This record gives sequence, structure tokens and C-alpha cells, in this order.
Amino acid sequence: MTETERMRALCETLNKWAYEYYVLDDPSVPDREYDRLYDELRELERETGITLPESPTRRVGGDPIKGFERHTHIARLYSLDKAVTEDELSAFFTRVKKAGEATYTVEYKYDGLTVCLTYEGGAFVRATTRGNGVEGEDVTAQALTVPSFPLTISYPGTLEVRGEAVIRLSVLEKYNAEHPEEPLKNARNAAAGAIRNLDPKVTRARHPEILFYDVNYMSESPVSSQTEAREFLKREGFKLFPYFKHCKSPEEVFACIDEIEVERRKLDVLTDGAVVKVNEEGVRSDMGATDKFPRWAIAYKFEAEEAETTVENVLWQVGRTGKLTPLAEVSPVELAGATVRRATLNNYGDLTRKDVKLRSRVLIRRSNEVIPEILGAVSHVEGSVPVEKPQVCPYCGSPIREVGANLFCVNRACPPRIVQRLTHYCSKNAADVEGMSEATLQILLEKRGVKQFSDLYTLTKDSFREEDGTFFEGFGEKKIANLLSALEKSKKIPLDRFLYALGVEGIGRVAARDLAAFGSVEAVKNLTFEELVAIENVGEITARSILAYFADEENAAELTRLLALGVEPFVKAHAAEGRFAGETVVLTGTLASMPRPEAQKRIEALGGVVGSAVTQKTTLVVAGEKAGSKLEKAKKLGIRVIGEEEFLAMLG
Ligand SMILES: [Zn+2]
Repeated sequence: MTETERMRALCETLNKWAYEYYVLDDPSVPDREYDRLYDELRELERETGITLPESPTRRVGGDPIKGFERHTHIARLYSLDKAVTEDELSAFFTRVKKAGEATYTVEYKYDGLTVCLTYEGGAFVRATTRGNGVEGEDVTAQALTVPSFPLTISYPGTLEVRGEAVIRLSVLEKYNAEHPEEPLKNARNAAAGAIRNLDPKVTRARHPEILFYDVNYMSESPVSSQTEAREFLKREGFKLFPYFKHCKSPEEVFACIDEIEVERRKLDVLTDGAVVKVNEEGVRSDMGATDKFPRWAIAYKFEAEEAETTVENVLWQVGRTGKLTPLAEVSPVELAGATVRRATLNNYGDLTRKDVKLRSRVLIRRSNEVIPEILGAVSHVEGSVPVEKPQVCPYCGSPIREVGANLFCVNRACPPRIVQRLTHYCSKNAADVEGMSEATLQILLEKRGVKQFSDLYTLTKDSFREEDGTFFEGFGEKKIANLLSALEKSKKIPLDRFLYALGVEGIGRVAARDLAAFGSVEAVKNLTFEELVAIENVGEITARSILAYFADEENAAELTRLLALGVEPFVKAHAAEGRFAGETVVLTGTLASMPRPEAQKRIEALGGVVGSAVTQKTTLVVAGEKAGSKLEKAKKLGIRVIGEEEFLAMLG
């Protein structure tokens, strides 16, 4: 036996034992036996200078790296749409039924960091984070320290598989006991921090695992269902999510979810819900995806976790409408792995209804990523006293107006109100002035009297100077230049976002989009009450609020100022030229030459509009492999259908 043959044999045995140990949780040999062969392999590798691709010695991960390289995923890694109520889940089933005959799969939704592993020609080549779904960070060195995936597989083509990097709760506990000086806050952050650590040794020390659940891309003989994907992963030696159910009906899915909701509390891994997917690829490709989510899968999030604590104090915050919101300072308490010090209530009425007093014991609940809310008082102690209802605004001393359960500061110029209005104007879905934070706006209000949106557009570099000529603390040339250019950029603003940015009561993003369809601020301004209530997402209260907004002289003057300063709300026009101009295209089935999102992009670039469902408005259907109900419907409606070849010809 040559040295290489011996090495190959050693790798095979060691990988088999590692698989038994890490994936099956069922070791067949004692650790020292593994160590003995491992040492022999290391020795041979040193002597020959050869390391085979499947060698377990590759799993050390290597030296610290300087930064993460960006990597583009072969196929987009979508995140999942969420449902939090049974009604929302039922609505999902209704949408699926419209698309075709389907069965469902149910899995746990683990709370860690999504990673994507790439294999080429049977060998592991790269691990990346999900990143923004299109592009992630290369974490190959870090992933290599994780023993729960194979370095070589039998599949010969290019493959991307998806998994969730997690740290077991018991592992976290042990780690924290051993590192009392720097304990890890919670399992999710610990897992993300381990994988996204520049030093693979840190990754290794935290013992993350990767639990695999899906195939993201296969260059050859792709699987045609979730059940097949799972079988494939299992066959190739990946560690899978242990729970997996294939359900024939929504009723069966609901039963599984009930089961998970109880069982998850016993798990050693952090979970926050269940993932329900359409099993069949045919129905999936018919349902397609929005720009964020696939339409054929949904994450059902469980009710957030709860904890008990004591109310120490209640502060009042003033929002952009002048509404006073109570914010409770509570005794620090651990909730879902984080230390909580503050909790919210909706309004004054909420506070009295829930019987929350100072020194009361209350139940708080974690809501997603924001400050937890107080569910209600559990008990009162001797020192419990009712929270005083503010008689005047705690910020400006103006009188309070009571409307139903809400208290409002009547002063339109109340400082926190102004800051909140400006913050809303600059926010991502509004004018999107990058870098313009609430704290900066607070400073600009105090030092420069910036109160109106239009004031923002009069700012210059000198506006950020103190009287002695130095810049405000924390502001440098670069930061100021960035803010000014972000403001300049925000002048070209889609009409719907502009209408939303104005902060008119009742105009959310949806109503703003509906209103933007009228084409200009002027046109929206001239709408009558009857015309407004005829709009799908505008009710009578919102209609009155819109009329009142535009009738107000101050608002009218502000709008004039904004336009005079160069703010230019525009309506996205569809490209009038291009092969697909005037076409409303629907894609169905699988295209061999490109993923669907790319096809969509290219159609849009050539002036077409891509629809998700075949309707009377559809003018063209592109049918790929395994086209389903959409194709039938198109034929029924007599809509022009083209195949992939003709489609490619049109793209040029
Ligand atoms: Zn006030």
C-alpha cells in the first residue's frame, strides 16, 4: 500500500467515525482510537506534503484573516415571509390552493446564522453567509472548523446547500461557565459571532454546528421536491434538522405546529417557529417569488417569550403626532437571552387597563427586535402607586389633549415631536437620507432651529459649526459631506415615498402608493373626499386627514418651499422602448438558462412588466419546463405563450 493509499484509507475511516459521532450522535469507537489514526494521518501528511481534499485535518480552519471577501451566490438565498397568526397561515394555504395541488413540509425554524456551502465536482469549495441573499461573506475558514458536514460528496455537479449555524444551549452554558469574564449573551448572537469571526480559532472554541435543511442550487438533475432534497442531503452525509414532517393537508400542518410548540421547549437549540413549505417544485415555480420572499414558503413565528419584573419608573415619550407613549423602566431581567431594562405600553389607556403601577410586578413579552411590551400586572406590593397622568407635556409644558385612550401634546412645535417628524421624513422608506439619525436631527433642532423638512435643504457645511468655527462634536468633514450629499440625493424622490415622508396622519406606505398613482402632488392635493374614499386603502378618517393636511396654509407653504428647493417627486415611468415595452409578462415553469429573478430583471430592463398571476391584463406568458396551472389559464384566456427558446431570442 502506497502512502497515498494509506492516507485515503485513513481519511475514509476517520470521516466515517466523525460522521457517526457528529451527525448520527452514535460513535462506534472510543475517542482515543480516533486520535490514534488522526495522528498517523497528520504524520503522513507532513512526510509527503500532501493533504487529500477529504482529509479531516483540513478542519482546523487556519490563521486569522484580515477581512471577509464578498461572494455572489449562484442562486439567490431568499428569506421567508412570516405569519404570526393562524389566519395568516390559512391565507397562505388559500394562495397555495389557487396555484395547484400541493403537499407541505414542516420543519423547525432555528435561530442562528444562515450559511450556504458550495461543492464542485464532489468537493467542498466554499462557505458563505446569506448576507443580503444575493451576496454574502466568504466564511470558508470558519466553516471548516465545524465537523458536521462532509468535505467530499458523491454528487458530481455544482451544488449549493443551505444550513443554519447554531450553538447548542448546553454548549453555550458550558462555554460561559468556562469564560466567566466574557460570557456570550445568547445562542443566536453566539452562533453568528462565531461564524463571522475573523479568527477561525474563536469559531472553533465556540463549537458551532451547522444543521442543514435545503438545497439551494444543483447544476445537474435537480431535486423536484423538499422531500427529495432532504433525502439527497441525508444520503450525502449532511447533518439535518431532526424534525421533518410531510403533510398532505393544512390540517396536518396545523397539528404539526401544535406539536412543535410544545416540543421546542425541550430542545437544546434555540427555535422561534416552524417553516412550512410547498413540497412540489412545480407548484413552487408557479407561485414564484416577490422581490423578498418565495411565495411558496412561510415561517410561522411562535409567540414571543415572557418574563416577570418590577416597574421602577414610567417616562413619557412624545411621537411625531404629539402622542404621549409610556415607557417603563423595569428591574433588569433576562428575556430570551437578552437583558431587558425597558418595556413599552401603547398609551395611557393601556397603562390603566393593564393596571400597571409603580413597583407593580408585571409580565413582559419579547416582541421581534424592539423593546418588549408589558402584558399586564401580575401583582402589586405595598409600595405600588398609580402612575400619574401627565397634566401638561413633560417636554414643553403645553396642555394635553385626551382623545380616547391617547394623550397628545397640543403643541405642534414640541421639540421631540419635531425631531420625530424629521426622523420619519429622513427614514429609509421615506426620503431615505442616509446617515441622518435622530440624534443628529436633535442637534440640528437645538443649534440651528431645523424644524421643517425644507430647513434640511438649506443646510451647508457651515451649519455644522459652533460659534468658534469648529464642527459640532462628533462631526467631521467627511461625515458632514456625506450628510449633505445624502440630502441632495433625497431630492429626487419617488412620489409615493414623498407622500409617505410628509407624515400625514393615516398615510402609510400602502395608501401612499395608491395616492401616487394619481401622478403628482398637485393631483393628490386636488382629490375630493369622494375620490379619496374610492381609493382601496383610504378610509373616511384618512380621507379627512388628507383633506385637512392640504387645506392647511402652513403645509401648503412648506410644500411650495420644498419644491422651490429642488425636491422633485417623480413617478416611475415604465421604459417605453425595448422588446417587452407594453407587455405584461408572466413566467411559469423552470427556465434552464437562467433563474426566474434574472429573467424578471431582463424583461423589466427591456420595458416589460412582470406579473405574478395570469389575469386579463397579461399579454405574454413565458412557459419553461414543468409549467403548471398558469399555462392552462393563459391558454384558456387566449394569451400568447412562448417557450424558452423564443424568449431567449426576444432577449437578444
Ligand atoms: Zn410638548
